[in-house]
This record gives sequence, C-alpha cells and structure tokens, in this order.
Amino acid sequence: KRNQTPDYLSGLNEEQRDAVETIDGPLLVLAGAGTGKTRVLTTRIAHIINTNRAWPSQILSVTFTNKAAREMKERIEKLVPRLDAMPWMGTFHSIGARILRQHAGLVGLTSTFTILDTDDQIRLIKQLLDAENIDEKRWPAKLFASMMDGWKNKGLLPKDVSPADSGSYANGLGGKLYADYQARLKSLNAADFGDLLLECIRLFKENPDVLAEFHRKFKYMLVDEYQDSNVAQYLWLRLLAQGKPASEANICVVGDDDQSIYGWRGAEVDNILRFEKDFPGAKVIKLERNYRSTSNILKAASNIIAFNESRLGKTLQTDVGEKGELVSVTQLWDSEEEARTVGEEIEQYQLAGEQLNSMAILVRASFQMREFEERFITLGLNYRVIGGPRFYERKEIRDAIAYLRLVAQPADDLALDRIINTPKRGLGDSTVQLLHSAARAANVPLLSAIRMLVETEELKPKQRTTLRGLVSQFDDWAFHAQTMRPFELVERILEESGYTDMLTADKSVESEGRKENLKELSRSMEEFDTLGGFLEHIALVMDRDSAEASDAVTIMTLHGAKGLEFNTVFLPGWEEGTFPSQRSMDESGRAGLEEERRLAYVGITRGRKRVRISAAQNRRIHGLWQSAIPSRFLDELPADAVEVKDTGSSYGGYGYGGGGGAASRFNKADPFESVYETPGWQRARAQQASRRGGGPLTIEGDLVARSVDLGNDRSAFAMG
Ligand code: ATP
Ligand code: MG
Repeated sequence: KRNQTPDYLSGLNEEQRDAVETIDGPLLVLAGAGTGKTRVLTTRIAHIINTNRAWPSQILSVTFTNKAAREMKERIEKLVPRLDAMPWMGTFHSIGARILRQHAGLVGLTSTFTILDTDDQIRLIKQLLDAENIDEKRWPAKLFASMMDGWKNKGLLPKDVSPADSGSYANGLGGKLYADYQARLKSLNAADFGDLLLECIRLFKENPDVLAEFHRKFKYMLVDEYQDSNVAQYLWLRLLAQGKPASEANICVVGDDDQSIYGWRGAEVDNILRFEKDFPGAKVIKLERNYRSTSNILKAASNIIAFNESRLGKTLQTDVGEKGELVSVTQLWDSEEEARTVGEEIEQYQLAGEQLNSMAILVRASFQMREFEERFITLGLNYRVIGGPRFYERKEIRDAIAYLRLVAQPADDLALDRIINTPKRGLGDSTVQLLHSAARAANVPLLSAIRMLVETEELKPKQRTTLRGLVSQFDDWAFHAQTMRPFELVERILEESGYTDMLTADKSVESEGRKENLKELSRSMEEFDTLGGFLEHIALVMDRDSAEASDAVTIMTLHGAKGLEFNTVFLPGWEEGTFPSQRSMDESGRAGLEEERRLAYVGITRGRKRVRISAAQNRRIHGLWQSAIPSRFLDELPADAVEVKDTGSSYGGYGYGGGGGAASRFNKADPFESVYETPGWQRARAQQASRRGGGPLTIEGDLVARSVDLGNDRSAFAMG
C-alpha cells in the first residue's frame, strides 16, 4: 500500500514533494512568486489528514486573505476524500477572534463582543480626547489611532508603552489615552482589529492553562505569506508553538522576501529571515520552478526586483513552456483614456472567448478605481471591486448595521450614538449628552440608562415619549431577532424606525441610490440564518467577493492581490507619485522605494499569460490636473521582454493591436537595455518636463495610506 503514490503527490516536483512530506519538525519554504508555496501548504494539510497524523480540527492554517482561506478550503475538500471537519483556517485576525470568543471572559469581554471598525474607533477616540480637553485639531484622532495601531502590531499593551513611545502626542498623554481607550472598549464589550491578536496574546500569557489547551489542540501549524507577518503575529505564533521544544515544533511557514509589502503596517520581513534561529534545526526548502507565468512575464518581474539592494536573491525559472506575449507598456493622455483603452482591450479579449473572471486591474491606490468603474458601467462590462470604495462603508449601510448591532448587543453604545437621532427624532445634542452622563454615572450602557431615565422626570415629556418608544422598538426587534431571518429583520427595522420614510422624503439624487443600497444589503443577508453570524461576517469581511459568482473583471489594489493569479493583468498608473507613491519618494533612504518595487514585482507576477502596464501623462487628483512623469519602474523593465505601444492621443493613433512596430524596435539582445532609452519615451519625458515647468508634482502622500487603510486593509486581515 505504501508504494502507491496518491495523485495529489505525484503532480508535485521533487522539492515541493519534499516540503509536503516533511511533516514533523519546523520547516521553512522560501521561494519566489508562483512556485507553488500555497499549493504546498494545501497539499500538506491534505497529506496530514490522509495519513492520519491529525484530525482536521488539530490543524491551524493561517492565510493572508479571506479569498485565500476560501480557496484553500475548496482545494482541500477535493484532496481529502472523506473530510468530516475543517481545519482552523483563516487570517490571523479571524482565528484570533475565534479564540477570543471562546475565552472572552478571561480578558474582560463576553463572547458576543463587537468588533469595531475604523469609524467607531475614531468616534471613540474623539470622545476620549473631549473628556481630556485635548484639542482634536491639534492632535487628530486619526493620528492617535495609527499610533495605537503601531503599538498593537508590536504586541504592546498600555503598560508596555513608554513615554518615549507615545512621544509628544497630546503633550505626553498618549499612554494614558491608550489605557483609557482599552478600558472603554471593555465597557462597550468591544474589541478593535488590533485587539483580536493583542488580547489573544494577553489571554495566553495570563492563562497558561488555556495556552496549554491550545498546545494540545493544534498539532500542526502552517502559515502562508510569512514575510508579511508583524511582531504581534509572530509573538502569537511563538506562544502557540511553545508546546514542544522549538527544534521539534510542527510549524511550517512559507514566504518570499521579495513580496514583503506591508512594512508600512508593521510587517517584519526579519521574521522569515530569523526563522532558522527561532526554530533551530529547521529544514529549509527552496522552490525555483514557476508554474504560473510565461517567461516574458517572469523576465520583466525579475528584472525589476533585481534593482532592489536588500534581498536574499533567488532564481526563478518558468515551467510554462512558452515565452508568451511581450509585456506591453502604453502611455496615454490621461486616466480617462487609460480607462477607455483598458475597457476596449477587455472587450476584445472577451470577444476572443476569454472569461472576465480571468482578468484583473491592479491599482496602486484606490482613488484610481473610480475611473475604471465608471467606464465599465458605461460599457456594461461586469466588474467587481475588491476592497475598494466599499459597500459596507456607505452611510446608509453603516446606519442599518448600527441598528442591527444594537439589537444583537444592547451595550453597543457607539451604534446607539450613531442612530439615536437618525432618522431625526428631535433629540438634540444636549439630550444626548444628558443620556451619556447618566450612563457614565450609573456605569451602565447607554440603552440601560435610557430605560432608567424614561421613568423619571429628568427628561422633557416629548423626549421621554420618543425614547420610551425607541426602547420598546428595540425590545421588539430583539424579540423578533430570535426567530426572524436577518434579512427580514433588517427590512422591518428600516420600516419601523422611519429610516425608509426619511429616504423617501429626501428628494436628493442620492436618496434613491441609498434605498437601492439598502435593498442590496438585505439581499446580501439572505444567506445568513442568524444575526450574529451576519454581524461577524461583515465585521471581518469587508470585501464583497464571496457574493458574486458571475463572470466579472476584478478591480483591486496591488496590496490585496497578493497570492492571487489571473490570465490577464492590467497595471495602470505607472507614474512617479502614483507608483511609486509620493510618500515613498519623499522618504529618506531606500526602504520605501524598495517596498514599492516589491509591489511592482507582486503586480507583474500575478499575470499568467498577459501583463499590460500603462501610464497616463495627465492625472486629475483632488480636482486638479497634474502632469505626470512615467514611473522609474518602466526604466527597469528589460527591453527584450517588453513592447512599447504607441502612445495615446498626443501621438495620434493609438490603436488596438497597433504596437507591433514599436515592439520590433526594441527586440535587441541586451536584456538590460532600458525601455526608457527609446525615442518615444524620451520625447514623452521631455514634453512633460517642459509642460510641468519644473514645478513639483503634488500628489498627496496620504492617498496611498487611504488606499490601504480603508481599501484592502480589512480584506487583507479578514476572512470569510
Ligand atoms: P505566490 O508567491 O504568488 O503566492 P505561490 O508560490 O503560492 O505564489 P501557487 O499559487 O501555490 O504559488 O502556485 C502558482 C500556480 O502554479 C498555481 O496555479 C498552482 O496550481 C500551479 N502549480 C504549482 N505547483 C505546480 C506543479 N507542480 N504542477 C503544476 N502546476 C503547479
Ligand atoms: Mg501563495
């Protein structure tokens, strides 16, 4: 029986197979893009189960995105014939949440705790600043939020934050504010994203018996995209791995130092570099065959990444037999023309029989997305935005969710704050303040305080009646929540609360759209049987990808695209200030630019057959036209793998498929000759330099941060 190799193993190359079959002891797989790291992890899980080394529930597998976790689940279902349960699979944060809910009592929460989003977080910080009489204009709440995020990513509790760490924020009050904030979260029965790991670490450290339970439970641990783990994630893993001596730990991590793109958020590529020190005797396996991309695509990617100084350096050889199409580079007049051109090309490919699902537009910053969306709407082209201007961020959706949160969790004061006067109920600021101080005085949630107050004479009769009505509505909804399907409940709430009426009365252009969005919300809830289940889903999963099965082009950020692959990849906006981002260019030192370059490497290596890069000569940012210089990364592409398409309107006659001539111009032997040193590019650069008149390119640095903070941040963290 032993000699018979199962199918799932025979498809692997020798090194991959070694990685799958080395089950016991620490293992590091360090390898470039598309070499099958994720495939190795998936196959390993199947192998562990199929060889009866462990039950599925004894395996912990950490992925970087929801999508990755879902895909892994699907593949494992195929590889394991009789699968009775699923391994623990998901992002660090979703697994952290699951563990915390099981042991919430030990960290001062209950199992139904709310996961706060960025908006709530900011609202809460503002309240704390208010209470301390700190001027929010001088010390923005957002700044503090990102400081706290930094501490949490490093695994620092309030007591661990030194005055030096908290710096000059609010004249040294940073540490105190952090402590107040954490205390306030507990009284709200809430956790923010950072807490999902931080509080888990605290749980493990303060409760050795709980940790020991998890040591017994998780026999095998696997981590994908390890190069992007941060200190808190590292500490969390170390704690979970401590059940055995480090040299015997059954932990397998895979990663690629060239794809480390979350440094700005505290990721430490060092984690992967020091794995062998942390787990002495760890086996290290390198994979060098790329099964994803054609050789032209690989050549383009390898050439760019070779410009980085700090890297381990790896070889990568394609296993895809063909050179394939050349990587194309096109310069266009402006971002509108860029969107139009991409749209046309997509339609051409579609006519030629290709699936929209196999095509993606990967942008550097989410502000780039809108133009594509608009164009695709005009063309009637199906698309999905992952981590973009997100559905769940919209006001009306957040309002509806606030109602639902409060029904599920009456202590959720932030939710009540949000909707107490939406729709308008004649409850002014002073009334709301009165309610708040009553709640503080009695140390109870806002809703409980209201219950008490409506029985007294402290409120004006009209408001008493209003609030009494509101409380009884919530009681009513909570009652129905036990039996009603969540989508029915939300419809009822929107009717009874007067929210729908408010929108109907509002004659503005947006209100129709808002109503449609709310309908979409209730549609999206149909698959959920419990309110808790739905709320958990939206707290963790801010991307919409799961709901859409139909054929559609994907629009997403480069950061969110890690680990994914598409036949055709469009990479727009390769302009200085957009990509690389202005922020990275302003930074002193090379680190920021090198991270941008890794992002370019990630982008190109997502493509299997076709990569199409473009740059606009003019871009409108915050309503102002800016002329743009082609990205330096274009200089770093190898001429013999690239074709430069004739540029846009300024040259007259950009036409589909008309770039053959340009390509042949550059079919030279020297792969390092820059695309940039060609007449077309020089002309473009000279023109732009003169048009710019030497003025600075003013693209705001925070555009980038926004794209990631609000954009794919959650999708990167969350799971389905
Ligand atoms: P990334 O660094 O981008 O995350 P990766 O190293 O995780 O890439 P995978 O996504 O696992 O790579 O694999 C890339 C592609 O190659 C997938 O389509 C996978 O199915 C395929 N592949 C991997 N190994 C083999 C193999 N031995 N034979 C055929 N195809 C393979
Ligand atoms: Mg992968």
